[in-house]
Amino acid sequence: MQADATQPVYLTKRSPEMGRYLVANRDIEQGEVIIFEEPLVIGPKQATYPVCLSCYRRVDGSYLCTDCGWPLCDQQCQTDNGYHRAECQFLAAQHVSVQINTQEEDCRVYDCVAPLRTLLAMSELSERRDLLSSMETHHSHRRDIGIWDVDHVAVVDVIRHDWDLQEYFSQQDIQTACAVLEVNAFEVNHDGVNARSIYSVACLMAHDCVPNTVCNIDAQNRMSVKAAVAISCGSMITTSYTFTLDSTQRRRKHLKETKFFDCLCQRCCDASELSTHLSSLTCPKCCQGVVVPQQPLDDTSDWTCLNDCNFRMSAQQVDRILDNLQRKADSLNYDDVAGLESFIDKWSKLLHPNNSIVVGVKYYLCLLYGNVDDYLVDQMPDALVQRKIALCKELLDIAHILEPGSSKLNENLQSELKLAEAAQNDRLAANQQNQLEKTST
Ligand SMILES: [Zn+2]
Ligand SMILES: [Zn+2]
Ligand SMILES: [Zn+2]
Ligand SMILES: [Zn+2]
Repeated sequence: MQADATQPVYLTKRSPEMGRYLVANRDIEQGEVIIFEEPLVIGPKQATYPVCLSCYRRVDGSYLCTDCGWPLCDQQCQTDNGYHRAECQFLAAQHVSVQINTQEEDCRVYDCVAPLRTLLAMSELSERRDLLSSMETHHSHRRDIGIWDVDHVAVVDVIRHDWDLQEYFSQQDIQTACAVLEVNAFEVNHDGVNARSIYSVACLMAHDCVPNTVCNIDAQNRMSVKAAVAISCGSMITTSYTFTLDSTQRRRKHLKETKFFDCLCQRCCDASELSTHLSSLTCPKCCQGVVVPQQPLDDTSDWTCLNDCNFRMSAQQVDRILDNLQRKADSLNYDDVAGLESFIDKWSKLLHPNNSIVVGVKYYLCLLYGNVDDYLVDQMPDALVQRKIALCKELLDIAHILEPGSSKLNENLQSELKLAEAAQNDRLAANQQNQLEKTST
Protein backbone atom coordinates (compact mmCIF):
# COMPACT_ATOMS: atom_id res chain seq x y z
CA MET A 1 0.00 0.00 0.00
CA GLN A 2 1.29 3.48 -0.89
CA ALA A 3 1.94 5.82 2.06
CA ASP A 4 -0.04 9.05 2.08
CA ALA A 5 2.68 11.67 1.65
CA THR A 6 0.34 14.57 2.51
CA GLN A 7 0.06 13.48 6.16
CA PRO A 8 2.79 14.56 8.64
CA VAL A 9 4.96 11.52 9.30
CA TYR A 10 5.13 11.83 13.08
CA LEU A 11 3.35 13.39 16.04
CA THR A 12 4.92 14.49 19.31
CA LYS A 13 3.28 13.01 22.41
CA ARG A 14 4.02 13.40 26.09
CA SER A 15 3.71 11.15 29.10
CA PRO A 16 4.72 11.67 32.74
CA GLU A 17 7.12 8.68 32.65
CA MET A 18 8.74 9.30 29.26
CA GLY A 19 8.49 13.04 28.70
CA ARG A 20 8.06 13.83 25.01
CA TYR A 21 8.31 11.14 22.33
CA LEU A 22 7.39 10.61 18.69
CA VAL A 23 4.74 8.32 17.25
CA ALA A 24 3.97 7.49 13.63
CA ASN A 25 1.07 9.61 12.43
CA ARG A 26 0.45 7.22 9.53
CA ASP A 27 1.88 3.94 8.31
CA ILE A 28 5.55 4.48 7.47
CA GLU A 29 7.26 2.29 4.89
CA GLN A 30 10.65 0.66 5.45
CA GLY A 31 13.36 3.02 4.18
CA GLU A 32 11.19 6.16 4.30
CA VAL A 33 12.92 9.30 5.61
CA ILE A 34 11.10 10.32 8.79
CA ILE A 35 13.32 13.22 9.93
CA PHE A 36 15.90 15.34 8.13
CA GLU A 37 17.36 18.28 10.03
CA GLU A 38 20.28 20.61 10.69
CA PRO A 39 21.97 20.60 14.12
CA LEU A 40 20.42 22.94 16.66
CA VAL A 41 23.76 23.14 18.49
CA ILE A 42 26.98 21.36 17.58
CA GLY A 43 30.30 21.42 19.40
CA PRO A 44 33.31 19.41 20.55
CA LYS A 45 32.83 16.34 22.75
CA GLN A 46 33.90 16.22 26.39
CA ALA A 47 37.48 15.20 27.18
CA THR A 48 38.40 15.31 23.52
CA TYR A 49 41.77 15.85 21.90
CA PRO A 50 42.05 19.40 20.52
CA VAL A 51 39.77 19.90 17.51
CA CYS A 52 39.02 22.75 15.12
CA LEU A 53 36.04 24.74 16.42
CA SER A 54 34.74 25.04 12.87
CA CYS A 55 35.03 21.53 11.38
CA TYR A 56 35.82 19.35 14.49
CA ARG A 57 38.86 17.67 12.96
CA ARG A 58 42.07 17.28 14.93
CA VAL A 59 44.26 20.42 14.99
CA ASP A 60 48.05 20.62 15.33
CA GLY A 61 48.19 24.16 16.72
CA SER A 62 49.84 25.68 13.64
CA TYR A 63 46.89 28.04 13.00
CA LEU A 64 45.18 30.09 15.70
CA CYS A 65 41.94 32.04 15.12
CA THR A 66 43.07 35.63 14.61
CA ASP A 67 40.04 36.87 16.59
CA CYS A 68 39.81 34.56 19.63
CA GLY A 69 43.08 32.57 19.61
CA TRP A 70 41.56 29.05 19.63
CA PRO A 71 43.28 26.60 17.26
CA LEU A 72 41.54 26.06 13.92
CA CYS A 73 42.66 24.17 10.80
CA ASP A 74 43.41 27.25 8.75
CA GLN A 75 42.13 30.57 7.39
CA GLN A 76 39.46 28.68 5.46
CA CYS A 77 37.95 27.19 8.64
CA GLN A 78 38.01 30.65 10.21
CA THR A 79 36.10 32.10 7.25
CA ASP A 80 33.54 29.24 7.14
CA ASN A 81 33.09 29.35 10.88
CA GLY A 82 29.28 28.97 11.01
CA TYR A 83 28.98 27.75 14.59
CA HIS A 84 32.23 29.30 15.83
CA ARG A 85 31.29 32.87 14.96
CA ALA A 86 29.01 33.59 17.93
CA GLU A 87 31.40 32.40 20.63
CA CYS A 88 34.42 33.78 18.75
CA GLN A 89 33.04 37.33 18.82
CA PHE A 90 31.85 36.92 22.39
CA LEU A 91 35.18 35.53 23.70
CA ALA A 92 37.19 38.11 21.79
CA ALA A 93 35.03 40.94 23.14
CA GLN A 94 35.52 39.67 26.73
CA HIS A 95 39.29 39.21 26.15
CA VAL A 96 39.12 35.54 27.14
CA SER A 97 42.38 33.85 26.25
CA VAL A 98 43.10 30.13 26.34
CA GLN A 99 46.32 28.12 26.32
CA ILE A 100 45.86 24.81 24.55
CA ASN A 101 48.44 22.07 24.43
CA THR A 102 47.63 20.37 21.13
CA GLN A 103 49.52 17.23 22.22
CA GLU A 104 46.99 16.57 24.98
CA GLU A 105 44.56 13.67 24.38
CA ASP A 106 42.11 14.69 27.09
CA CYS A 107 41.79 18.44 26.77
CA ARG A 108 39.10 19.43 29.28
CA VAL A 109 38.85 23.07 28.22
CA TYR A 110 36.90 21.81 25.16
CA ASP A 111 34.17 20.61 27.58
CA CYS A 112 33.17 24.29 27.84
CA VAL A 113 32.62 25.04 24.14
CA ALA A 114 29.34 23.23 23.44
CA PRO A 115 27.78 24.47 26.72
CA LEU A 116 28.89 28.02 25.84
CA ARG A 117 27.26 27.70 22.40
CA THR A 118 24.11 26.35 24.05
CA LEU A 119 24.09 29.29 26.49
CA LEU A 120 24.59 31.82 23.71
CA ALA A 121 21.76 30.20 21.71
CA MET A 122 19.54 30.24 24.80
CA SER A 123 20.20 33.92 25.32
CA GLU A 124 18.87 34.74 21.84
CA LEU A 125 15.20 35.53 21.39
CA SER A 126 14.55 32.80 18.91
CA GLU A 127 12.96 29.48 18.12
CA ARG A 128 16.32 27.89 18.93
CA ARG A 129 16.11 29.16 22.50
CA ASP A 130 12.57 27.82 22.91
CA LEU A 131 13.57 24.40 21.59
CA LEU A 132 16.63 24.18 23.87
CA SER A 133 14.69 25.40 26.90
CA SER A 134 12.10 22.65 26.43
CA MET A 135 14.65 19.81 26.57
CA GLU A 136 15.07 17.18 29.29
CA THR A 137 17.78 17.81 31.90
CA HIS A 138 17.41 15.11 34.64
CA HIS A 139 19.10 17.52 37.08
CA SER A 140 18.41 15.54 40.27
CA HIS A 141 19.84 12.35 38.83
CA ARG A 142 22.92 14.18 37.55
CA ARG A 143 23.47 15.42 41.11
CA ASP A 144 22.99 11.93 42.58
CA ILE A 145 25.60 10.30 40.40
CA GLY A 146 28.15 13.11 40.63
CA ILE A 147 28.06 14.42 37.04
CA TRP A 148 26.91 17.75 38.42
CA ASP A 149 30.15 18.03 40.42
CA VAL A 150 32.32 17.00 37.48
CA ASP A 151 30.68 19.66 35.29
CA HIS A 152 31.03 22.18 38.07
CA VAL A 153 34.82 21.84 37.98
CA ALA A 154 35.28 21.28 34.23
CA VAL A 155 32.73 23.80 32.92
CA VAL A 156 31.05 26.07 35.48
CA ASP A 157 34.26 27.17 37.21
CA VAL A 158 36.12 27.60 33.94
CA ILE A 159 33.46 29.75 32.28
CA ARG A 160 32.62 31.80 35.38
CA HIS A 161 36.05 32.17 37.00
CA ASP A 162 38.89 31.31 34.62
CA TRP A 163 37.19 33.21 31.81
CA ASP A 164 35.68 35.76 34.20
CA LEU A 165 32.17 35.55 32.75
CA GLN A 166 30.15 35.43 36.03
CA GLU A 167 28.09 38.44 35.07
CA TYR A 168 26.81 36.69 31.93
CA PHE A 169 26.08 33.15 33.10
CA SER A 170 24.81 31.80 36.42
CA GLN A 171 25.89 28.40 37.79
CA GLN A 172 22.39 27.09 37.23
CA ASP A 173 22.30 28.22 33.58
CA ILE A 174 25.64 26.57 32.84
CA GLN A 175 24.53 23.34 34.53
CA THR A 176 21.35 23.43 32.44
CA ALA A 177 23.37 23.80 29.24
CA CYS A 178 25.61 20.85 30.25
CA ALA A 179 22.54 18.76 31.09
CA VAL A 180 20.74 19.54 27.84
CA LEU A 181 23.83 18.33 25.97
CA GLU A 182 24.41 15.23 28.11
CA VAL A 183 20.83 14.06 27.88
CA ASN A 184 20.04 14.98 24.28
CA ALA A 185 23.20 15.11 22.14
CA PHE A 186 24.12 12.56 19.50
CA GLU A 187 27.73 11.66 18.71
CA VAL A 188 28.95 12.90 15.34
CA ASN A 189 31.73 10.75 13.86
CA HIS A 190 32.53 10.83 10.17
CA ASP A 191 35.64 11.55 8.04
CA GLY A 192 37.76 12.55 11.03
CA VAL A 193 34.97 14.74 12.47
CA ASN A 194 34.54 14.24 16.21
CA ALA A 195 31.70 16.22 17.78
CA ARG A 196 28.38 16.12 19.62
CA SER A 197 25.23 17.65 18.33
CA ILE A 198 21.63 18.29 19.33
CA TYR A 199 18.90 17.68 16.76
CA SER A 200 15.61 19.16 17.85
CA VAL A 201 13.31 16.44 16.47
CA ALA A 202 15.59 13.38 16.46
CA CYS A 203 16.31 13.86 20.16
CA LEU A 204 12.63 13.33 20.89
CA MET A 205 12.78 9.71 19.71
CA ALA A 206 12.37 7.33 22.63
CA HIS A 207 15.01 4.70 23.22
CA ASP A 208 14.39 1.02 22.52
CA CYS A 209 17.06 -1.70 22.64
CA VAL A 210 15.48 -2.94 19.37
CA PRO A 211 15.07 0.36 17.49
CA ASN A 212 12.82 0.75 14.46
CA THR A 213 14.85 3.51 12.79
CA VAL A 214 18.38 4.07 11.56
CA CYS A 215 20.12 7.43 12.04
CA ASN A 216 22.74 8.86 9.74
CA ILE A 217 24.72 12.10 10.00
CA ASP A 218 26.02 13.43 6.67
CA ALA A 219 29.13 15.44 5.75
CA GLN A 220 27.29 18.70 6.58
CA ASN A 221 26.41 17.22 10.01
CA ARG A 222 22.73 16.98 9.07
CA MET A 223 20.71 14.18 10.63
CA SER A 224 18.49 11.86 8.65
CA VAL A 225 16.35 9.25 10.34
CA LYS A 226 14.93 6.47 8.19
CA ALA A 227 12.49 3.70 9.04
CA ALA A 228 14.55 0.50 9.41
CA VAL A 229 11.33 -1.50 9.27
CA ALA A 230 7.74 -0.63 8.38
CA ILE A 231 6.22 1.34 11.29
CA SER A 232 2.47 1.24 11.71
CA CYS A 233 0.37 4.30 12.46
CA GLY A 234 0.33 5.01 16.22
CA SER A 235 3.54 3.07 17.01
CA MET A 236 6.41 4.76 18.78
CA ILE A 237 9.34 5.88 16.60
CA THR A 238 12.48 4.68 18.39
CA THR A 239 16.26 4.77 18.28
CA SER A 240 18.92 3.15 20.43
CA TYR A 241 21.32 5.13 22.62
CA THR A 242 23.43 2.10 23.39
CA PHE A 243 25.24 -0.84 21.76
CA THR A 244 23.10 -3.52 20.17
CA LEU A 245 25.53 -6.38 20.80
CA ASP A 246 25.93 -5.62 24.52
CA SER A 247 24.12 -7.74 27.10
CA THR A 248 21.08 -6.43 28.96
CA GLN A 249 23.13 -5.82 32.09
CA ARG A 250 25.68 -3.67 30.22
CA ARG A 251 23.13 -1.80 28.11
CA ARG A 252 21.00 -0.91 31.12
CA LYS A 253 24.06 0.21 33.07
CA HIS A 254 25.25 2.37 30.16
CA LEU A 255 21.78 3.93 29.72
CA LYS A 256 21.49 4.63 33.43
CA GLU A 257 24.94 6.25 33.59
CA THR A 258 24.80 8.27 30.39
CA LYS A 259 21.11 8.92 29.75
CA PHE A 260 19.83 8.61 33.32
CA PHE A 261 16.93 6.18 32.86
CA ASP A 262 16.06 2.52 33.47
CA CYS A 263 15.25 0.81 30.19
CA LEU A 264 12.10 -1.30 30.39
CA CYS A 265 11.87 -2.27 26.72
CA GLN A 266 10.65 -5.66 25.61
CA ARG A 267 14.20 -6.90 25.05
CA CYS A 268 15.37 -5.81 28.52
CA CYS A 269 12.31 -7.46 30.14
CA ASP A 270 12.99 -10.79 28.42
CA ALA A 271 15.56 -13.03 30.17
CA SER A 272 16.55 -14.65 26.85
CA GLU A 273 16.87 -11.26 25.07
CA LEU A 274 14.19 -12.26 22.55
CA SER A 275 15.79 -15.72 22.22
CA THR A 276 19.12 -14.31 21.05
CA HIS A 277 20.76 -15.27 24.39
CA LEU A 278 23.19 -12.37 24.45
CA SER A 279 23.23 -12.52 28.26
CA SER A 280 22.98 -16.30 28.73
CA LEU A 281 25.37 -18.91 30.12
CA THR A 282 25.42 -22.63 29.30
CA CYS A 283 24.19 -24.82 32.16
CA PRO A 284 27.18 -26.57 33.80
CA LYS A 285 24.87 -29.18 35.38
CA CYS A 286 22.75 -30.58 32.53
CA CYS A 287 24.99 -29.11 29.77
CA GLN A 288 21.90 -28.79 27.52
CA GLY A 289 20.09 -25.93 29.15
CA VAL A 290 20.66 -22.21 29.16
CA VAL A 291 21.10 -20.24 32.36
CA VAL A 292 19.29 -16.88 32.48
CA PRO A 293 18.29 -14.41 35.19
CA GLN A 294 14.93 -15.13 36.82
CA GLN A 295 14.16 -11.39 36.90
CA PRO A 296 16.18 -9.69 34.13
CA LEU A 297 15.40 -6.20 35.47
CA ASP A 298 16.68 -7.05 38.94
CA ASP A 299 20.48 -7.10 39.23
CA THR A 300 20.27 -9.18 42.42
CA SER A 301 18.02 -11.93 41.07
CA ASP A 302 19.23 -15.55 40.92
CA TRP A 303 20.03 -17.17 37.58
CA THR A 304 18.46 -20.56 36.78
CA CYS A 305 18.56 -23.18 34.02
CA LEU A 306 15.68 -23.04 31.54
CA ASN A 307 15.91 -26.85 31.25
CA ASP A 308 14.36 -27.40 34.72
CA CYS A 309 17.47 -29.20 35.99
CA ASN A 310 17.25 -27.08 39.17
CA PHE A 311 20.63 -25.47 38.60
CA ARG A 312 20.79 -22.08 40.30
CA MET A 313 23.48 -19.41 40.68
CA SER A 314 23.45 -16.15 42.64
CA ALA A 315 23.72 -12.83 40.84
CA GLN A 316 27.10 -12.27 42.54
CA GLN A 317 28.49 -15.55 41.17
CA VAL A 318 27.34 -14.64 37.65
CA ASP A 319 28.75 -11.12 37.99
CA ARG A 320 32.12 -12.50 39.03
CA ILE A 321 32.27 -14.82 36.01
CA LEU A 322 31.12 -12.16 33.55
CA ASP A 323 33.40 -9.45 34.96
CA ASN A 324 36.34 -11.80 34.81
CA LEU A 325 35.65 -12.87 31.21
CA GLN A 326 34.90 -9.33 30.09
CA ARG A 327 38.30 -8.30 31.47
CA LYS A 328 39.92 -11.18 29.60
CA ALA A 329 38.13 -10.15 26.39
CA ASP A 330 39.16 -6.50 26.85
CA SER A 331 42.81 -7.45 27.32
CA LEU A 332 43.04 -9.82 24.33
CA ASN A 333 45.65 -9.09 21.71
CA TYR A 334 43.41 -8.21 18.76
CA ASP A 335 46.27 -8.78 16.28
CA ASP A 336 46.51 -12.41 17.35
CA VAL A 337 43.78 -14.01 15.26
CA ALA A 338 44.47 -17.55 16.48
CA GLY A 339 44.25 -16.30 20.07
CA LEU A 340 40.87 -14.70 19.36
CA GLU A 341 39.55 -17.91 17.80
CA SER A 342 40.71 -19.95 20.78
CA PHE A 343 39.04 -17.45 23.17
CA ILE A 344 35.75 -17.99 21.31
CA ASP A 345 36.19 -21.74 21.34
CA LYS A 346 37.11 -21.94 25.00
CA TRP A 347 34.45 -19.64 26.48
CA SER A 348 31.53 -20.57 24.21
CA LYS A 349 31.18 -23.66 26.39
CA LEU A 350 30.77 -21.87 29.70
CA LEU A 351 28.99 -18.84 28.26
CA HIS A 352 26.29 -19.33 25.65
CA PRO A 353 27.85 -19.19 22.13
CA ASN A 354 25.75 -16.04 21.62
CA ASN A 355 26.82 -14.40 24.87
CA SER A 356 27.79 -10.80 24.12
CA ILE A 357 31.36 -11.32 25.37
CA VAL A 358 31.89 -14.01 22.72
CA VAL A 359 29.79 -12.23 20.10
CA GLY A 360 31.93 -9.10 20.41
CA VAL A 361 35.03 -11.11 19.42
CA LYS A 362 33.11 -12.91 16.66
CA TYR A 363 31.97 -9.60 15.16
CA TYR A 364 35.56 -8.30 15.22
CA LEU A 365 36.83 -11.42 13.41
CA CYS A 366 33.94 -11.34 10.95
CA LEU A 367 35.03 -7.85 9.86
CA LEU A 368 38.74 -8.72 9.97
CA TYR A 369 38.58 -11.78 7.70
CA GLY A 370 38.72 -10.62 4.12
CA ASN A 371 39.53 -6.98 4.92
CA VAL A 372 42.98 -6.63 6.49
CA ASP A 373 46.50 -7.43 5.35
CA ASP A 374 47.39 -11.13 5.56
CA TYR A 375 43.66 -11.92 5.67
CA LEU A 376 42.56 -10.39 2.38
CA VAL A 377 40.10 -12.56 0.47
CA ASP A 378 42.73 -13.82 -1.96
CA GLN A 379 45.09 -14.68 0.88
CA MET A 380 42.65 -16.71 2.95
CA PRO A 381 42.53 -20.50 2.76
CA ASP A 382 39.13 -22.04 1.95
CA ALA A 383 38.56 -22.90 5.59
CA LEU A 384 38.80 -19.24 6.62
CA VAL A 385 36.44 -18.15 3.85
CA GLN A 386 33.97 -20.69 5.19
CA ARG A 387 34.61 -19.44 8.72
CA LYS A 388 33.77 -15.89 7.64
CA ILE A 389 30.55 -17.11 6.01
CA ALA A 390 29.59 -19.02 9.17
CA LEU A 391 30.31 -15.99 11.38
CA CYS A 392 28.26 -13.69 9.12
CA LYS A 393 25.29 -16.07 9.20
CA GLU A 394 25.48 -16.56 12.95
CA LEU A 395 25.61 -12.81 13.56
CA LEU A 396 22.89 -12.11 10.99
CA ASP A 397 20.55 -14.40 12.95
CA ILE A 398 21.09 -12.09 15.92
CA ALA A 399 20.95 -8.88 13.86
CA HIS A 400 17.61 -9.86 12.26
CA ILE A 401 16.08 -9.89 15.74
CA LEU A 402 17.90 -7.03 17.47
CA GLU A 403 18.42 -4.55 14.62
CA PRO A 404 15.83 -5.66 12.09
CA GLY A 405 15.34 -4.27 8.60
CA SER A 406 17.76 -1.95 6.88
CA SER A 407 19.86 -1.27 9.99
CA LYS A 408 23.60 -0.57 9.84
CA LEU A 409 24.48 -3.84 11.58
CA ASN A 410 22.32 -5.85 9.22
CA GLU A 411 23.68 -4.10 6.14
CA ASN A 412 27.32 -4.41 7.26
CA LEU A 413 26.91 -8.13 7.84
CA GLN A 414 25.06 -8.64 4.56
CA SER A 415 27.88 -6.98 2.64
CA GLU A 416 30.52 -9.06 4.47
CA LEU A 417 28.54 -12.19 3.67
CA LYS A 418 28.37 -11.20 -0.01
CA LEU A 419 32.14 -10.67 -0.08
CA ALA A 420 32.82 -14.11 1.40
CA GLU A 421 30.23 -15.91 -0.73
CA ALA A 422 31.58 -14.32 -3.90
CA ALA A 423 35.07 -15.59 -2.97
CA GLN A 424 33.70 -19.05 -2.29
CA ASN A 425 31.82 -19.11 -5.61
CA ASP A 426 34.92 -17.95 -7.53
CA ARG A 427 36.93 -20.76 -5.95
CA LEU A 428 34.29 -23.38 -6.73
CA ALA A 429 34.14 -22.20 -10.33
CA ALA A 430 37.95 -22.29 -10.60
CA ASN A 431 38.03 -25.82 -9.13
CA GLN A 432 35.40 -27.03 -11.57
CA GLN A 433 37.36 -25.50 -14.41
CA ASN A 434 40.50 -27.32 -13.21
CA GLN A 435 38.63 -30.63 -13.00
CA LEU A 436 37.29 -30.15 -16.54
CA GLU A 437 40.77 -29.38 -17.85
CA LYS A 438 42.18 -32.44 -16.08
CA THR A 439 39.53 -34.82 -17.43
CA SER A 440 39.86 -33.45 -20.97
CA THR A 441 43.65 -34.05 -21.03
ZN1 LIG B 1 38.74 23.00 10.56
ZN1 LIG C 1 37.69 32.48 16.80
ZN1 LIG D 1 16.04 -2.03 26.72
ZN1 LIG E 1 20.58 -27.25 33.34
